[in-house]
Amino acid sequence: MEILTARDHEAQHLLQVYEQLPLEPESAEGVYLHCDGRRILDLYGGHAVAALGYGHPSILEALTSQARKVFFQSNAVAVKVRAEAAEALAEFAPGQLNYVFFTNSGAESNENALRIALRLTGRSRVVAIENGFHGRTAAAGAVTWGAKGSWYGFPQTPFSVDFLSRNLISAVTDTVTDETAAVILELVQGVAGAFDLDPEFVQEIARTCANRGAMLIIDEVQSGIGRCGRPFATDLYEIKPDILTMAKSMAGGFPCGALIVTGDVAKSLGSGDLGSTFGGGPMACALVKTVIDVINKDQLMKNVRTLSKLIKEALPLGPVSSTQGKGFLMGLRCTRNARQIRDELLTKNILVGTSADPLVLRLLPPLILEQQHVQQLLDSLAELPEG
Ligand code: PLP
Repeated sequence: MEILTARDHEAQHLLQVYEQLPLEPESAEGVYLHCDGRRILDLYGGHAVAALGYGHPSILEALTSQARKVFFQSNAVAVKVRAEAAEALAEFAPGQLNYVFFTNSGAESNENALRIALRLTGRSRVVAIENGFHGRTAAAGAVTWGAKGSWYGFPQTPFSVDFLSRNLISAVTDTVTDETAAVILELVQGVAGAFDLDPEFVQEIARTCANRGAMLIIDEVQSGIGRCGRPFATDLYEIKPDILTMAKSMAGGFPCGALIVTGDVAKSLGSGDLGSTFGGGPMACALVKTVIDVINKDQLMKNVRTLSKLIKEALPLGPVSSTQGKGFLMGLRCTRNARQIRDELLTKNILVGTSADPLVLRLLPPLILEQQHVQQLLDSLAELPEG
């Protein structure tokens, strides 16, 4: 009998909606994927998800020990591990953010954040930033740049959206008005190529939100949980969001998302206002606590700062001219097509991401990366033609 590749087998019964890489990992360990006899250095991290890499002993221990205790209970009952995960997140997050609602994905986190802002302000307009990405559900897709007219699919958005050009400070006070319920933004726009917004622009938005009674929602789905070298990118911008959303790496690969809000927002919400069957499940919560514990205990944020600096200092190198982004949400600006360079690196057993910018490669590696892995990347880049 003919043995099918995973890709051909998938194609038999899965909707063909993803462009896939020519890789079929059979196993993974640390920062490496094992594929057909090859060992591939994974600087893509399952799209910013594998914060502690693969097979981390603390993750395995948390998974098995929680599975033996209580595998699942919904929010209909209180469970200790959920309380502990929320406590760990509140301690990790910026000072004024102390109350958590667990979801299952980034889009669901943003959907709920927007719902809260529209409801609490009683307003019906939202401001988002050009080139931002916030997810594929009705509200999250509405604030995603370019969604309408391509994959959005809904006949109309659930509210009016005004898009602000990136870093255009002079447009902020005209766009964020007394009718604005919220401004939602990524401080480092991940899909756009790890494009970090100017602090002055973001601070002007924060000031205007406060003056006009609009809520500030910071989407840290990609940038959060230590990836930028601090607990959240928000810590680098001197702003105080009302709501911060997260997902991706927060449970190390187990589906999990969350929003964390201020006391003022929390006291305006009551029983029945939000809900999710799986959000806050014990397995995800055990992993959230574990991921934060390991990041703190193993000083992984310091590791991110040190190693991302090494990459920056080595440039320009081969086809890479400069970097953008923060920490391990890094864009490598290239002198020629990024996809082609991605493919060339893959032939050298290094996996990196691409982005919406055709000249920018994206690095989203596990936070446990070591200096030898950075050196492997730099050596490989040096061997590639410049442009
Ligand atoms: N927000 C940001 C900044 C993202 O990068 C993503 C996904 O890439 C999302 C939201 C959506 O997250 P999810 O795919 O978990 O719904």
